[in-house]
Amino acid sequence: MSSTFTHSFQTDLFTGKVNFPTGVFINGEWRAGATKLLLTTGQLLTAISEGTAKDVDLAVEAAQKAFDTVWGLNTPGSERGRILGKWANLIEEHLDELAAIESLNNDKNHGKVLETSEAVLGYTRHEPIGVVGQIIPWNFPLLMFAWKVGPALATGNTIVMKPSELTPLTALRVTQLGVEAGIPPGVLNIVTGYGKTVGHAISSHPSIEKVAFTGSTLVGREIMVQAAKSNLKNVTLELGGKSPNIIFEDADLNIAVEWATIGIFFNHGQTCCAGSRIYVQESIYEKFEQKFLERIKQIKLGDPLREGVNQGPQRIMSYIDDGKKSGAKAIIGGKRHGTEGYFIEPTIFTDTTNDMRIVREEIFGPVGVLVKFKDEEDIIKVANDTVYGLAAAVFSQNISRALSVGHRLKAGTVWVNCCNQLFAQIPFGGFKQSGIGRELGEYAIANYTAVKSVITNALTDGFEEISKVCTF
Ligand code: NAD
Repeated sequence: MSSTFTHSFQTDLFTGKVNFPTGVFINGEWRAGATKLLLTTGQLLTAISEGTAKDVDLAVEAAQKAFDTVWGLNTPGSERGRILGKWANLIEEHLDELAAIESLNNDKNHGKVLETSEAVLGYTRHEPIGVVGQIIPWNFPLLMFAWKVGPALATGNTIVMKPSELTPLTALRVTQLGVEAGIPPGVLNIVTGYGKTVGHAISSHPSIEKVAFTGSTLVGREIMVQAAKSNLKNVTLELGGKSPNIIFEDADLNIAVEWATIGIFFNHGQTCCAGSRIYVQESIYEKFEQKFLERIKQIKLGDPLREGVNQGPQRIMSYIDDGKKSGAKAIIGGKRHGTEGYFIEPTIFTDTTNDMRIVREEIFGPVGVLVKFKDEEDIIKVANDTVYGLAAAVFSQNISRALSVGHRLKAGTVWVNCCNQLFAQIPFGGFKQSGIGRELGEYAIANYTAVKSVITNALTDGFEEISKVCTF
């Protein structure tokens, strides 16, 4: 029934040709999906399989079988750790190749002993949830794959994963390395395809016990509805943002300018935590604006802050037009760059009001707003006046001020004198409509475990003893 579906790259951006399977990956086998989905970035890149809801059913069946036999509680955490460690080594060995593909395409579960009385031995077990569904976006394809797959497999779950239809290649290649490392068949299944079919089939599948999603707030809402309607599956969401960068008059100006530039233009502004609202205290506003513009002018095509956008130039241009029409002023940029490809100039608006779409909505491109503020009270109110709450940054050499403002901002991550810095040990996720749950560190482990309490009568004649301390 299954057939191998390979397709080699038609471009030759690497040193040599790269071939790897680009079918759906179910139960340890590469299969052709229903149809071929063409993957392009201006020119035809390759063809990948377009999975279907039927493929999701097969993947769930394989994942459930693997969970019941070779993974989950059947494999000690140390063994899972050994395989994941080997996989990590293989990924490291292939870093150059994976980086090339990415740029082309854009142990143990611990528990606690809980003391109640002499008569009771109570402890918790953190058990894997079962078959989990994972749906990821296109803006950091390999990173998002790693953030999702690592903690889910380490804690013993099995996975049905859908990468973005725009950027599935690194997920497919890394999965192949996972097979080489010894991930057993059925433990990790990849169904490529569109959100409305494969994504929907995952979020509404009655046998998937948890869905982890990273993407837009709009789709996150839909995922939650499907999860609730199907089997009330556990949901974690990593969604969009409109993060404030707050620069106080006592900040080191050069440092603040550099970080503000990185904050909004890193990855062409296509970063969930992009510092797209830049607020500068009025006494240093003019000086900051001048230095900031000088710095933006130095951004060159080809550096990581370049003007390219990977998708949606029309959508971003419509925000720029809307900003202009509503009375805001583009003090730099505001146009497409060249006539070919998807490039938009780094754009900064001033003269905005807080009700404008360019101030309120996630643009997901190289477009930011620069706004004056008066004092701490003023800026905390304005910065928190958003439906999002993913991240925020505060620039000040007075650490007490920076921290006290940071504590009052409604954001899952607050950076002080830096921005867009993430670490594997430190949790990342959103307040408000930026998400539910946290990725990275031990918080990510919590997303993928169910807590079981085991209560044992420790005394043979302990009936009375237990009853005395029982709260029921
Ligand atoms: P998107 O929401 O359009 O798509 C994300 C994924 O969901 C894709 O795989 C897509 O195919 C799938 N999908 C689409 N419709 C679906 C449906 N109805 N049911 C199930 N799945 C569906 O987002 P995108 O354009 O790929 O990525 C950009 C968004 O992701 C931005 O809003 C950005 O802020 C957010 N993001 C957030 C984080 C974070 O950690 N908070 C990280 C990266 C990106």
